[in-house]
Amino acid sequence: MTLAPAMLAVIAMAAGGRSPVVCQPLRSGIDGQSDGVMIRLQPQICASLSLLTPSSLSNDALWALQTALHEASHVAIYRTRSDALWTSEPHVECRALRWVPRAVRQLGGSDFQALLALDRARAMVRHRLPAAYQSRCTRVPPQVIQIRHVMGRRMSLARASVNDGVGL
Ligand SMILES: [Zn+2]
Repeated sequence: MTLAPAMLAVIAMAAGGRSPVVCQPLRSGIDGQSDGVMIRLQPQICASLSLLTPSSLSNDALWALQTALHEASHVAIYRTRSDALWTSEPHVECRALRWVPRAVRQLGGSDFQALLALDRARAMVRHRLPAAYQSRCTRVPPQVIQIRHVMGRRMSLARASVNDGVGL
């Protein structure tokens, strides 16, 4: 299976340039893998990426996007020759999370969908990835909740988007 050109372009952007992306079975419990040059993704991660729609981002699709951006971040950091950092999972995950909203925008999502995706991705990372991946980046409180608090009038907009299938 190969990914759509738009998705490969997003991964290349996050990886700091084109890098080979291969969908292949990996050992169980691993969604993605990188040696710093090549990105390997489990076939079900690639399948979820193929079904990704920014306007109704499923948990599976968002997790797959986060996984691809994580592996792309390993490659991007390796490219800079920061050898000490490219294998640092909290550092890599922090960078991957920063790329989530940019990726959603690049794939056609709105600013709001991008911000919501970041909050959701961060919550998923916090719950699904082991302690070795966590850092202050994964502990940031949800920004969409803060926006709702600060901008009361935007609450109905936020609710409408959630009801449209974005989900929190
Ligand atoms: Zn990693």
